[in-house]
Amino acid sequence: MDRKAFLQTLLPLFAAGKRVNAMQLKELQSITHSPAGTAAMPVLFLGHGSPMNAIEENEFVAGFRNIAKKIPKPAAILCISAHWETRGTRLIASPLPQTIHDFSGFPKALFEVQYPAKGSPGLANQTKALITKTEIGLDDQWGLDHGAWSVLKHLYPDADVPVVQMSLDTGRDPQYHYELAQQIKSLRQKGILIIGSGNMVHNLGKVAWNRLNENFGFDWALEAAGKMKQFVLEGNHKELIRFRSQGRAFDLAIPTPEHYLPLLYCLALQDKNEKAELFNDKAVAGALTMTSVKIG
Ligand code: ZN
Repeated sequence: MDRKAFLQTLLPLFAAGKRVNAMQLKELQSITHSPAGTAAMPVLFLGHGSPMNAIEENEFVAGFRNIAKKIPKPAAILCISAHWETRGTRLIASPLPQTIHDFSGFPKALFEVQYPAKGSPGLANQTKALITKTEIGLDDQWGLDHGAWSVLKHLYPDADVPVVQMSLDTGRDPQYHYELAQQIKSLRQKGILIIGSGNMVHNLGKVAWNRLNENFGFDWALEAAGKMKQFVLEGNHKELIRFRSQGRAFDLAIPTPEHYLPLLYCLALQDKNEKAELFNDKAVAGALTMTSVKIG
């Protein structure tokens, strides 16, 4: 409950001519600070897969809808998308971010999708202020890319939750990304849903394009996915940060890091006593996994 709502709970007492003494005030405050009211928002890593998931009906989009029902409705969303890489970390500070169709060769219907969620310059500034180890840029040029809207469209179809996107600073090592994300952990206590959108296993060069809608993974993809999931469920972040030292299967699963790094942002926000659970845990087209993670 925010301050305004809290004060509104006091109004009937004043209206009834009652004096609110210190003890009553304390009691009221304890209600507004109940564990339910202050529980940390869960964190989601979402395997977004093909942009077509934005407009298709399948088990994965059903999984996105389902997970939104399982968690409290957020005050706002901070999304780290695989599809926004920049020099330095940037945040969208636009009050009305545009829907960006950052792909080619897809049907017209996909280019017509609009996700008219508002932005939140307030959240962008708050996030920037929390990150003290490096300078964060504010950006009003980029908008919401398909890494964000192709999944958010299913979680919040009414686009009624403000969204801020945060970019991936190219050329930084995995530990840097992990430590950057640790600095924004307190947003979870403020009703902010932090979403990492990527894919744990993502090798477009090896995708079986003639079997796009089939649920299967090549041996190396399943091997890497199995180890990644084991580390996620054990809370073994160290080995996941060291993904470049995990051998051939990981190298094939992560030929470039942008789809994997959003997972590290999510893990960095996990408390020691919090569990991670998996959903949409399937491989598709040989070289992608849709495996998604809910933390908290
Ligand atoms: Zn992608």
